[in-house]
Amino acid sequence: MTNPLLAETGLPSFSQIQPDHVEPALDETLRRNREELEQLLASDVESDFLTAIAPLEEMQDRLHRTWSPVSHLQMVKTSDELREAYNRCLPKLARYATEMAQDARLFRLYKSVNDSLESQEETPERKLLEHALRDFHLAGVDLPEDEKKQFSEIMEELSQVQAKFEQNLLDSMAAWSHHETDEQKLCGIPAAVLDAARNAAEEQDMDGWLLLLNQPTYIAVITHADNAELRKDFYTAWVTRASDQGQASDEFDNTALMEDIMGLRHRAAILVGFDNYADYALASRMAGSVAEVTEFLEQLAKVAKPAAVNEFKELQDWTGKKLNAWDVAYYAEKLRLKNFSISDEELRPYFPLERVMDGLFQVMQQLFGLTAREEQDIDRWQPEVRYYSLVNDRNETIGGFFVDLYARRNKRSGAWMDECVLRKRSKSGVQIPVAHLVCNFTCPASDKPALLTHEEIVTLFHEFGHTLHHLLTRIDYPSVSGINGVPWDAVELPSQFMENFAWDPDVVRDMSSHFETGEPLPDDLLLKLQASRVFHSGLQMVRQIEFSLFDWRIHSEYDPDKGARIREILGEVRDAYSVIESPPFSRFENSFAHVFGGSYAAGYYSYKWAEVLAADAFAAFREAGLFDRKVADRFRETILEVGGTADIGAAFQAFRGRAPQIEPLLEQAGIVTTGKQS
Ligand SMILES: [Zn+2]
Repeated sequence: MTNPLLAETGLPSFSQIQPDHVEPALDETLRRNREELEQLLASDVESDFLTAIAPLEEMQDRLHRTWSPVSHLQMVKTSDELREAYNRCLPKLARYATEMAQDARLFRLYKSVNDSLESQEETPERKLLEHALRDFHLAGVDLPEDEKKQFSEIMEELSQVQAKFEQNLLDSMAAWSHHETDEQKLCGIPAAVLDAARNAAEEQDMDGWLLLLNQPTYIAVITHADNAELRKDFYTAWVTRASDQGQASDEFDNTALMEDIMGLRHRAAILVGFDNYADYALASRMAGSVAEVTEFLEQLAKVAKPAAVNEFKELQDWTGKKLNAWDVAYYAEKLRLKNFSISDEELRPYFPLERVMDGLFQVMQQLFGLTAREEQDIDRWQPEVRYYSLVNDRNETIGGFFVDLYARRNKRSGAWMDECVLRKRSKSGVQIPVAHLVCNFTCPASDKPALLTHEEIVTLFHEFGHTLHHLLTRIDYPSVSGINGVPWDAVELPSQFMENFAWDPDVVRDMSSHFETGEPLPDDLLLKLQASRVFHSGLQMVRQIEFSLFDWRIHSEYDPDKGARIREILGEVRDAYSVIESPPFSRFENSFAHVFGGSYAAGYYSYKWAEVLAADAFAAFREAGLFDRKVADRFRETILEVGGTADIGAAFQAFRGRAPQIEPLLEQAGIVTTGKQS
């Protein structure tokens, strides 16, 4: 029997992959890679880029081919068996990664190839080598043996503890549900969510409705449920996930793990010569120093907080009472309705999924001359998943992407893009990149098409921006193609840039079509939608800054004598910037997977950082005409195609003709106006 995870070409055979394929495939891939590495290092042929580095890129791609389908399935269709296999593999992967990153012979190989490069030009090859050498340094490759070993143990432990953090979160969510038989108590909740809850109850042979703890249900309840007790229940369950305050079992409490995670990160940073983990993280970022990031956030906070205070005061005044944390979204929605008389549920009928996807693809066509062509005969993990080829105007397929849009049990919440196949050039030609675009939209009821809220459309455009970043790359080396090697604080530039199109009046009109009448979104609704964009943008910005500063401070101020001071620092940040009071039982930090799960550690600020870049980039399109081909081509060439081979500050400068400015974002958020309109 062949193991589908060992296929060397084509798309993964998702439907064939079984949990018992996972460990043998990984073992075999790691064995082959180690064997080839030894051969490479033993070879006494004088090494140049082609003979030494290209094979290393091949190994990276081979490991990606084995592991990417596993980590993808673990996120979109997990099971106990898959999770066990996945967990057994994590330490092996971490060990391999550390081994590669700490191999002094490998370091010397990169160094000698780098030294042998004659041209001083900033070629992709040179950038790849620079990145590799930097990363060797960050992995402590120049440490004495015993410290090197220590570093590797810390990293291995860290990856396990972070994974456990994420699992506790999933488990604590799966363990909680709200069963309701009294329809009266569900007043206000959108029908689509109630349909799903009724189905969930039926599946369990229960009467009434079973509301599960997932993101769409939580947002629907907290925003729309008239029953304050129900909102409080859901809010409490949501902000106490994986904590000592949670209603699920204590075994899912993340508190101790978070302390461990912070300690391990700090120790790793110190070992390789940095002051703290934030400092360590900056070595591969666009931002230059701890102070620069702190100042950037404080500068934004200074402008945003007064706006947020006004917005909240206006809301409280309007309701005439002191609002609890679980009331804010509900009354904000009511105020938004009053001011803009527009609700998500009013908009939904105008945005059938098919039409929205067409609208999105139309934008891509106008900007870049690319077409998305749906393919039927592609193996997938779930029947509703779709696959598209990305075709250029010469009818050449330059990439592909899977689209998995609906929330399911055993699927991680949120939305994301993931790499399925990496772009690379080998003897047999170019391997075209393939992406996963994953969302958690509410599953359509059986008698209606899927209808999206505008927020879901923005999410879709966002993830599509990441998808384009992965697919449009022209770089032939997996380690620096697409989003690889792109500084974390700039990686959200293409995604947040694309969001702006989901707000453009012409784009929105074109992608709307009432699912019963075919009528486009009427102009009055369109205008209100535009106005609603800046509704409570001060409150939202303050919240993002609060998350960012919390993340930044726990990493930059870590002190081994005092521990991580997680709750203390969160309290200080809230005292300084928060506008909405959190109840004492809130343990939101215990479910802050962005930070404690690892991917955005000391990096949450990058959302705002990249938003500034994105708003400023979009302003260039506004100035030239939204679909100006020259501007689009320049954006594609300077930003989307270069992967991790460009200095992103310089790339932005090349695109915009100047350094990024903060004003377009503040203007976009309605926090400052240029005065031009008035
Ligand atoms: Zn993103």
